[in-house]
Amino acid sequence: MWTKDQIWNLAHAVYPSAVDARRQFHRNPELSFEEKETSAFIAAQLDAMGVPYTAGVGGYGIKAVIEGGKPGRTVALRADMDALPINEETGLPFASQKPGVMHACGHDVHTATLLATARALRDVAADLPGRVVLIFQPGEEVNPGGASLMIKDGVLVNPTVDAIFGLHVMPLMEAGTMGFGAGPMLAAPDEFDVTIVGRGGHGAAPQLCVDPVMVAAQCLTLLQQIVARNVSPFQSAVITVGTIHGGTARNVIPDEVTFKGTVRTMDPAVQALMPQRIEAVIRGVCEAAGAAYKLHYDPGYPALINDAAATDIARRAALRVLDAEKVQPMAPSMGGEDFAFYLQKVPGSFARLGSMISGTASPAGLHTARLMIDENCMATGVAYYLSVVQEYLGEA
Ligand SMILES: [Zn+2]
Ligand SMILES: [Zn+2]
Repeated sequence: MWTKDQIWNLAHAVYPSAVDARRQFHRNPELSFEEKETSAFIAAQLDAMGVPYTAGVGGYGIKAVIEGGKPGRTVALRADMDALPINEETGLPFASQKPGVMHACGHDVHTATLLATARALRDVAADLPGRVVLIFQPGEEVNPGGASLMIKDGVLVNPTVDAIFGLHVMPLMEAGTMGFGAGPMLAAPDEFDVTIVGRGGHGAAPQLCVDPVMVAAQCLTLLQQIVARNVSPFQSAVITVGTIHGGTARNVIPDEVTFKGTVRTMDPAVQALMPQRIEAVIRGVCEAAGAAYKLHYDPGYPALINDAAATDIARRAALRVLDAEKVQPMAPSMGGEDFAFYLQKVPGSFARLGSMISGTASPAGLHTARLMIDENCMATGVAYYLSVVQEYLGEA
């Protein structure tokens, strides 16, 4: 059994390597499913550590396995590695060197933390019963989600994974803290694209036209009625239309208007209801106006549901290495996360890792150009990972 001190000594020993790797990733961000260099860097690091791995799992994904010294169960840890199409504005010395691409969701931190965990585990694996599977995953930000592709490619078998743990940086929580919660924690993020097809003409002669701008406006308003009137007040759902495009001049009625939206739900039954109700609203409004429509609805990741027993293990593991007040409850959010796919297959728990720089008045959130991370959170992440591995494998 590793003591708290032993775990922190291991975490601090690998911390400088985590900082180096994180800055390397941060300087060289790659968009979802384009993580070629990131993947090559991870492979080279694992080679140098002497940790065996398989590359090309579900695209640029990498699966590494660290065997313990005794027989036992298999626990997986997962990091995502893709960046976002955002132009960085942090002014950091190691800011993105690629205009328009930035690690604005902290996946650079996740990947560096998992690499550092591999480095620490390699030296002490002989103490462990069972084995640890390290999953470096591409394409978290974009459908169909790299998690689904890695699962299809067998990342959870040979060896069969018994449980999985992961984490995500949280810029609104102070570094050194973590958050845990059981049950539905993150939403299923579906997407839809709509084209309203009317009949354009002179803005002064609407009687000769079918105005798709008016139809789209009514659709947008009525879509909110689905959340207000078709979803139980005890359930959660969000419909947000984030883009709308149509028209070229103030006095011209266009032929078409397009809009795109996201749908967030926590419950599979509510998720299943959404495409039916959205289509019914659009069909009804279009019929009334004499317009036609095209609707493309893309179900996204499932809702992320943390297993209760695995979350107990995760929280216990955190309490072993962190002071009690640093281990906080995790509030659900309507964000999405493709870690949900793993949790459909095996029990596990996804945690929040506080990453706010202490004293920041209004920290920039995830998916923003000014996201800042207190890199010390990576030491906390490594200590937690070592502790959860020990807690889970040692329990059998
Ligand atoms: Zn993200
Ligand atoms: Zn993310």
